[in-house]
Amino acid sequence: MKFTFGLGLFLSLFCWLALSTTAGASPDKTKFVSINAINRDARTQLLELGVSIEEVYSDRVWSLVSEDDITRIKDAGFKILSEASSQVFLGSPRFPKKDDRYHDFSGMKSALDDLHAKYPNISRLQSIGKSWEGRDLIALHINTSAQDLESGHSSKPGAVFMGAHHAREHLSSEIPLMLGQFLLDHQREQKISTLLTSRDIWIIPIVNPDGAEFDIEGGFYHLWRKNRRENGDAILHTHGVDLNRNYGYGWGTGGSSKIPAMETYMGPSAFSEPETQAIRDFVNDHLNLKVLLSYHTYSELILYPWGGLKEEVSNINDRDAFKTMAETMAKWNQYKPEQSSALYIASGDTCDWAYATHGIFAFTFELSPKGMMGGGFYPGANAIDSTFNANLNPALYLIDLADDPYRSIHQGAGASIWYK
Ligand SMILES: [Zn+2]
Repeated sequence: MKFTFGLGLFLSLFCWLALSTTAGASPDKTKFVSINAINRDARTQLLELGVSIEEVYSDRVWSLVSEDDITRIKDAGFKILSEASSQVFLGSPRFPKKDDRYHDFSGMKSALDDLHAKYPNISRLQSIGKSWEGRDLIALHINTSAQDLESGHSSKPGAVFMGAHHAREHLSSEIPLMLGQFLLDHQREQKISTLLTSRDIWIIPIVNPDGAEFDIEGGFYHLWRKNRRENGDAILHTHGVDLNRNYGYGWGTGGSSKIPAMETYMGPSAFSEPETQAIRDFVNDHLNLKVLLSYHTYSELILYPWGGLKEEVSNINDRDAFKTMAETMAKWNQYKPEQSSALYIASGDTCDWAYATHGIFAFTFELSPKGMMGGGFYPGANAIDSTFNANLNPALYLIDLADDPYRSIHQGAGASIWYK
């Protein structure tokens, strides 16, 4: 894909980038740079240098970096092709005013409380654990059986949707929340009713609440990615582990960094973080789960295992199902379907672990926008409805296939549209 660096990019950066001089920000990551990473190995090497990759093009990537990062990148033999500095911007008590439709942690709690209060007979809220700073990791359980809701367990085929492993990806928690709202609000419609009576559905909108709160602290965006673990490093006092590099399958085998200050820090050990432990324990405790969707932003991609290995999934049926499901979902949202490691090697992610450990058909969606021009991590409130609408059918399709994901192979990539 060709990419032109122009005025539009400057304008879009100016619209959403926040450079802060206020305490508590992460003022060091102030530059978007393009780097001449021309293939997967080069991109993986950058991740291992601790640099997060925000956009991938055929001959370069865009990354958010500090001056120290730039030195390290150059020392490793890469070239910085162009750069864009960020500017002071924005200000409101929580989310910047223009984005107050987004839910902060307490807003998300209220929205889930309201939803449960409206539909108490087929929904329940449960905390599946606590974050590093002690916030609840809240799950919305949707099931038409009172007994299943009461016990928190079901023999019906299960689907789980989660968002915000990465702090600054706020859109990724709005979409699963809206999915829950949609399913409950439309429960009397025949197609939805059939799904709800036959499936066990879980929605965990914010896996990384500490990071998400930190990212909007002071009413401007901090471009924060990781959780808020105190890393205990004596001099730098850094915070945070990359939760999507901390899962236990193939942990630390590529595309992550051992250095606590880095964006792709894998953590001191596999599942070192309370947030990934909570997801692990939740999934281990719900063996009826057959499909999983972890929402991230951005780039408009549908990714499936492996992320940590170059090889394809070895089981041919599984591989066919992953591909067909991804291609089918792509017809609805127009995202690009591909094996995760086609971009770069990234070990220790949610989907590799869920598939390797439990055979769950696990997908990562990199939601809208496609690039920085669309606002990058902060695409604004207008992106919420359009992104949800584009991603509703894929979610319903996954829920439907939870009884037998291999059905996708026989159906082919021409499944009927569920809902317009
Ligand atoms: Zn992410």
